[in-house]
Amino acid sequence: MSRNDHLLTVEDLQKSYGDELVLDGIDFTMDAQDVQVLIGPSGSGKSTLLRCVNRLTEFEGGTISLDGEDVMAMDVNELRRQVGMVFQDFNLFAHLSARENVALGPRRVLGKSKAEANDRALDELERVGLADQADSYPAELSGGQKQRVGIARALAMDPKLMLFDEPTSALDPELIGEVLGVMRELADEGMTMLCVTHEMGFARQVATDIMFLEDGRLVEHGDPERLFTDPRHERTEQFLRRLT
Ligand code: ADP
Ligand code: MG
Repeated sequence: MSRNDHLLTVEDLQKSYGDELVLDGIDFTMDAQDVQVLIGPSGSGKSTLLRCVNRLTEFEGGTISLDGEDVMAMDVNELRRQVGMVFQDFNLFAHLSARENVALGPRRVLGKSKAEANDRALDELERVGLADQADSYPAELSGGQKQRVGIARALAMDPKLMLFDEPTSALDPELIGEVLGVMRELADEGMTMLCVTHEMGFARQVATDIMFLEDGRLVEHGDPERLFTDPRHERTEQFLRRLT
């Protein structure tokens, strides 16, 4: 199969910080509508892997292709338009309303008129269940609502792929469900998603595949049921046992 058949192809990815090799020969592919969940201990390289995909960080070895195009050959702004990212700590602009936060990309990057960008922002806020909070500022929103604005902001760019880096880790437990609910709906709508999460219920129910990363290496990956019930590697089993 050629790499053009996949939405995302990561081949022999190598990434160091100084002397420390943090990603060591990562290989995987994702097809359209896949929900790939990435798990692993703190410091195993999960965030770095996501950040390589949209070139928030440089990598020294290997290739990453999006829809058959080498990301290194793409215009970085176009790449980031096609790859939406949702962060643990939301990264919203405090001085902008929810609607303005979501409208910013369509206006600045997609070149839409103010009215069009506004309409698009309202549509996306509605999609994440926040139409009634469009004029609220981040300080007036709960963590779960802020994160849903973060998701709406990424969706407003019509991404081909969405990256989620521990989107619920900063949230109070009672707010986690509303964010996972939105992610589940996106998956049901056919969004292609690469998610770092410790929410194993979500992973088990929504993931098409789970990858276990440790010390920058992909230890194993597989169908969620198989991985949870019959992990092939002792390390995976130990990690899952500690979580569940
Ligand atoms: P995870 O998301 O799985 O917790 P990270 O990708 O954040 O792991 O980090 C992987 C390794 O890279 C860790 O050893 C971390 O200390 C190191 N690292 C991450 N970001 C940087 C950075 N900006 N500069 C130097 N080292 C970093
Ligand atoms: Mg991380």
